[in-house]
Amino acid sequence: MADWPIITKIQLTRYSVPVKDLASDLAFSAGQFYEPGSVSYRNVMRIQVHTNEGITGEHVSGAPAIVEQIRMFSPFLIGKNALERELFYNQAKMILRKNDRMGIGPVDVALWDLAGKIHNAPVYRLLGGYRDKLPTYASTYHADRQPDGLSSPEGFADFAEQCLDLGYPGFKIHSWGAAPIQLEIDTVHAVGKRVGGKMALMIDPCCAYNTYGESLQVGLACDDEGYYWYEDPLKDGGVSFSAYRRLRQSLKTPILQGEHLHLVEAHTDMAIADATDFWRADPDYDGGITGVMKIAHAAEGLGMDIELHGAGPAQRHCMAAIRNSNFYEMTLVHPKVHTAKCIPQLNGYEDRLDSIDKDGCVPVPQEPGLGVQFDWPTVERYRADEVVIE
Ligand SMILES: [Mg+2]
Repeated sequence: MADWPIITKIQLTRYSVPVKDLASDLAFSAGQFYEPGSVSYRNVMRIQVHTNEGITGEHVSGAPAIVEQIRMFSPFLIGKNALERELFYNQAKMILRKNDRMGIGPVDVALWDLAGKIHNAPVYRLLGGYRDKLPTYASTYHADRQPDGLSSPEGFADFAEQCLDLGYPGFKIHSWGAAPIQLEIDTVHAVGKRVGGKMALMIDPCCAYNTYGESLQVGLACDDEGYYWYEDPLKDGGVSFSAYRRLRQSLKTPILQGEHLHLVEAHTDMAIADATDFWRADPDYDGGITGVMKIAHAAEGLGMDIELHGAGPAQRHCMAAIRNSNFYEMTLVHPKVHTAKCIPQLNGYEDRLDSIDKDGCVPVPQEPGLGVQFDWPTVERYRADEVVIE
C-alpha cells in the first residue's frame, strides 16, 4: 500500500494557439470554418498530475473553461493515491454538484495516463481491450463561404466522394449555423445521391435549427437518403427528452443525442425516455475515461450503441475497449484545411484527413498510458496562464 503513487501537484497550463485559414463567425456558423488568410485561436489546457514517484499523468483538453471546476476539487486530490480514480470521480461529482461537472473529465484522463505509465501498459489494455483498429468517419469542418470549400450542397458531395475514395466508411456533415432550411435539405440530398449506400452518412447541425418543423423536414430528407444518424438538430441545445422522443416517432433515421448531457445518469435517463437511438459521450465532457466507460456499459445493458464525440487519444483508448460502438470521429476535416491538432505530437500520433489506413481505420496508441508525447517547446510562446495546486 505504501508503494502507491501519491499525488503531489496538479498543474493546469492554458495555451491560445493561432491557426491559419480558419475563421469564427457565430452569426454564420456554429463553429470554426475555412477562410483563407484568416487566423483563429484554439484554446487548450494541458493538465499534469505529478506524483511523489516522479511519474506524471498528462492530458490536453479542448475545454479550458473548466479550470475553475478543477480548482474546486483539486485540493481533495493532493496527498491521495493516484490510482484511486473511482474514489476521485465520485468525490469530484459531489463537490461539483452545483456545476455541470465537466471539470472531472480532463483530470480523470490524466489519471488514466498516469496509471498506464505506472503499469507499463496502454490504457485500452487496462480497460480490458476489445480491438486495436477503429473504423473511422470523416467529420467535416462547418460550412464556409469559399467556392473551393464546403459552401454548397455540391461542395459537400464532392468532399464526401473524396473521403470515400480515401477509404472512409462514413461521412458527417457539419452544416451552416444560420442558413435557409432548404440549403440544409439540398445538402442532405446531394451527399446522399452521390455516396449513399457506399458509406454511412450523418448530419450534425449543432443545435442550429430554429423550429421543430425545420428539424423534421431535414430529418425526412435523411429518411429519403438512408442516413445512418441525425444529430442535435434543435435549438433546445440537445437536451429536451420530449422533443427528441417526438422526432424519433416521426422519422426512420436513427437519432443521436447526448453530447450536451453529462455523466451516466443523464445519458441513461435520456435513453429510457426513448429520446435517442445512439448514445453520445466524450471523455472531456462526461467524467473522463472512467465516466465514458460507465456510459458505454449502461448503453450495453440496454442493447444500445455509444458513439464517442471528437478525436483524440482518450477516445481511441475508450473505443478500443468498447464492443457496442461503430465509428471513431475524425474531427474536423476539410478539402483545403490540413491543420493537425494545434499542439504538435512527437511519436507519430495524428488526427488528420489522411490518418486512416486502407481499411478506413485508425490505430490505437501502443505506448504506456495514452501513448502520446506532445512537443511543448514549439508552443511555449502561446502560453496564456497557469494554475498550480499543491
Ligand atoms: Mg455533435
